[in-house]
Amino acid sequence: MVDAGLTFTDDTIVAVATPPGRGGVGIVRVSGDRAAKIAKAIGGRVPPARVATAATFRDAVGEAIDQGIMLYFAAPASFTGEDVLELHGHGGPVPMDMLVHSCIALGARLAMPGEFSKRAFLNNKIDLTQAEAISDLIDSASQQAARAAVRSLSGEFAKRIRMLVIALTELRMYVEAAIDFPEEEVDFLADQEVQQRISSLERLFVNLQEDAQQGQLLRDGMVLVLAGPPNVGKSSLLNRLAGYDAAIVTARPGTTRDVLREDLHLDGMPLRVIDTAGLHDSDDEIEKEGMRRAREAIQHADHVLVLSDISDVDAPSFTENLPDGVPVTRVVNKIDLSPDTPPGNQGDAMLYVSAKSGAGIDSLKAHLANVMGYSAVDGGKLIARRRHIHAIERAFAHMALGRDALYNMKAGEIMAEELRLAQQCLGEITGRFTSDDLLGQIFSRFCIGK
Ligand code: GDP
Repeated sequence: MVDAGLTFTDDTIVAVATPPGRGGVGIVRVSGDRAAKIAKAIGGRVPPARVATAATFRDAVGEAIDQGIMLYFAAPASFTGEDVLELHGHGGPVPMDMLVHSCIALGARLAMPGEFSKRAFLNNKIDLTQAEAISDLIDSASQQAARAAVRSLSGEFAKRIRMLVIALTELRMYVEAAIDFPEEEVDFLADQEVQQRISSLERLFVNLQEDAQQGQLLRDGMVLVLAGPPNVGKSSLLNRLAGYDAAIVTARPGTTRDVLREDLHLDGMPLRVIDTAGLHDSDDEIEKEGMRRAREAIQHADHVLVLSDISDVDAPSFTENLPDGVPVTRVVNKIDLSPDTPPGNQGDAMLYVSAKSGAGIDSLKAHLANVMGYSAVDGGKLIARRRHIHAIERAFAHMALGRDALYNMKAGEIMAEELRLAQQCLGEITGRFTSDDLLGQIFSRFCIGK
């Protein structure tokens, strides 16, 4: 367990905070006790806190290495909660490197990935949802994802968790009071107050679950596999969904020999589309390998579109080759070739499209959003990860067990215990009850300088 209040670090870390490469400005960030000493040695003085201060940056022997701006944040009023120094120099790899080396010569060490954010977390400046939101905001691939990340970053996610924890605690106190004073003989089932509290808790859970689920879809999206016999138009459909030519389309069967991946967006939800090699009998070694990879991709998919050609819809169904449990939608392509009016989209079972003309593609997109439960409405989405969703689910399950124990067995003690466990699951989300291992995993995925 991490005791967030007492963690103590006595070393000073340094990293380039701006992306590698050349740019107008590059920033070296320093955090720790030696920040002031480093400011004085490199920039000639310790700037007043939060005042942009022009300086000539010098190395250990006093030679000028750059000119720029220093920003100093005295602890605890800084991002990490420690003394922080930012050196804004010119953004080239060599000047940045020279600045970092000067800081190291003055006693700093290179920061590990995510170490600035980790220190901010350990010093109670931000909770885990906010630390993760920083990373997600930087990595966000759509405006919707960025907005959801900012919402989590500003603490909205943590606030919703807190509200739940307060409601859980109040209910638990109520139940415990009844256990402690059995002479009062509170009949829980008849007690309106308990029932109301339980149902309002359930509403809070369901709403949070929905917003987090949407946020997780915004972040991770879905893996969609395009499968079907050669030449039915899988590559063409991928290109149509992408809006540009991502895959090679030819009239010769078996063109897509490898597994092609393309990252797209569906109203903000990322979609990784995998165009598989046509699955068919072949002696060609390369094609066989392509098909092996296709089968592997299908096993890890969230959804599979099985394509067929309108002129050959009665071809042997491809669906029997699919692993169990992967949700499938059958898509009939090339409806532009059919002289008959296309039969119209028949609910979810079968969709009719033309990758060539674009007919039916909007319905297909709506169908995909629908199967993932994704709503394009921005609402109150909070950027979230699978670990958050799992923790909320586990907390909800404990709360439901407690409710049933109370309603079915009048077991107040069991309910109190389940509520405590629910609270603990929620604590994992914000980092109140999080193991060091998990913290290590979370922060090591950040990039250096964050
Ligand atoms: P894949 O082997 O399943 O990936 O199929 P391709 O995307 O390479 O397409 C095979 C052939 O069918 C190409 O000549 C495409 O131009 C053609 N094709 C694909 N989609 C359509 C469509 O909707 N209508 C028509 N008329 N032709 C299509």
